[in-house]
Amino acid sequence: MEASAAITGQPEKPMPLLEALRALVGASHVLSEPEQIHPYLIEERGLYTGTALAVVQPGTTREVAAIVRLCAERSLPIVPQGGNTGVVGGGVPQEAVVISTRRLNRVRQTDPLNGTITVEAGCILADIQNAAEQAGKLFPLSLGSEGSCQIGGNISTNAGGNAVLRYGNMRELVMGLEVVLPDGEILNDLYGLRKNNTGYDLRDLFIGAEGTLGIVTAAVLKLFPMPVRRATTFMACANAHKALAFFKRLREAHGEQLSTFEFMEREPLQIVLDHAPGTMDPMERPYPAYSLIELTSSDPEADLETALENILAAAFEADEILDAVIPASMGQGRALHALREHVSDAQKQAGASIKHDVSVPVSRVADFIEAAKAACHAHMKPCRVVAFGHFGDGNIHFNLAQPKGMEREAFMAHYPAINRIVHDIVHAMSGSISAEHGIGHIKRHELARYKDPVALRLMHRIKSVIDPQNIMNPGKVLLPDTTG
Ligand code: FAD
Repeated sequence: MEASAAITGQPEKPMPLLEALRALVGASHVLSEPEQIHPYLIEERGLYTGTALAVVQPGTTREVAAIVRLCAERSLPIVPQGGNTGVVGGGVPQEAVVISTRRLNRVRQTDPLNGTITVEAGCILADIQNAAEQAGKLFPLSLGSEGSCQIGGNISTNAGGNAVLRYGNMRELVMGLEVVLPDGEILNDLYGLRKNNTGYDLRDLFIGAEGTLGIVTAAVLKLFPMPVRRATTFMACANAHKALAFFKRLREAHGEQLSTFEFMEREPLQIVLDHAPGTMDPMERPYPAYSLIELTSSDPEADLETALENILAAAFEADEILDAVIPASMGQGRALHALREHVSDAQKQAGASIKHDVSVPVSRVADFIEAAKAACHAHMKPCRVVAFGHFGDGNIHFNLAQPKGMEREAFMAHYPAINRIVHDIVHAMSGSISAEHGIGHIKRHELARYKDPVALRLMHRIKSVIDPQNIMNPGKVLLPDTTG
């Protein structure tokens, strides 16, 4: 008969990690073979590849809690991962246990009267939009990656997207959360209440925390009346200043109905036309800049088409716009949206890129584009600026594309200098170096440089209180605390 550890007085040997994880969630939900785990290790743009001790796919909140407890006992780093569509390397592990939320994919409850839907973290964003639609409601978060990103990832990056102007970003769409904390405790803040003043707002701490404070396992989200009227236009203008003048005109006249005001210069449109199959220039000749605009209403009587035609006519008169198309069918409308949605993918195919996801006050957005373009052109010749984004939110994706004829390595060598040029301009305009993508691994140094030092110290203190072992997505968002 074998003597037990308690009888022999020897400390019990811990079960090997993979075995212990299999005992918690079942062998088929623990991945460790290189070809199985590869998709969980890659960075969206292919900039680098991570390493993992294992990838675990729990099916319930309790299983998530058990895995976290196991890792906490062994001081093992954990990286929560949703769809892995994040663009700042936040979900890429380094010698960590990856907790993939893909099996936490149930809609727990839809309450149309309360205007809420309760979902698990691994629900794909597009599936939540569909579930809301089936209940006759709108869940308005909308991103280019909505077919594969998960709501836990959206919450953890405080995602933005195309409808922030009207409905707000993820933070404004979350009413309650369930979170597994770094010691394995489950925080139940899963309330669907529009009023709940019961002390500190813990929920907001986890939104945008990029998995550094805990693992979001479920959320109560806000639903809205379904728009039944929609009017879209793709307009051309001379520059961002003209687009801003038109934005002001539109917001003053139709602020309640203005749900999308996306901007792009000719360069991003040209990249889409060159690389995204099936796309067509909607206008007969090229123009320097464009905006995709949408008005929506849940009032079936609202005549948005006439309102849009009238305001476009007034903007022509005022020399704010040069041309505009209004789609004659839903198919044509979708084709116009596709021109904007394809920019990121098309840019990937057009070669290497140096990217910035910045925001400035909306009143400065045209000044920013002008100043940053001039500074980049002065620094690098030739220079291909790809400026586009959520103009109405003051959020510009200010990217540089690899110029034709310049080697990838020579171009990428400009990354730090271009970052400094662009972020210094943003900072001088009281803007943010990360509008919607987050900090992750890639922007930690930029955060340390530009964030208010008092805010940064508080962030470190919060992190050390909630995660004293620093096991929850370590090395993301914050650099090691050197302030003591
Ligand atoms: P992941 O990439 O898996 O993770 C992102 C971060 O959240 C990581 O730090 C991860 O550790 C953490 N995390 C993930 N799940 C959890 C969880 N359950 N609990 C705690 N932490 C967690 N972003 C925008 O904001 N607006 C856009 O318009 C937009 N457009 C995009 C278009 C394309 C084509 C692509 C590829 C990306 C785009 N993104 C956009 C970026 C990306 O899709 C978003 O950041 C998205 O919210 C990430 O969701 P995900 O499930 O893929 O998260």
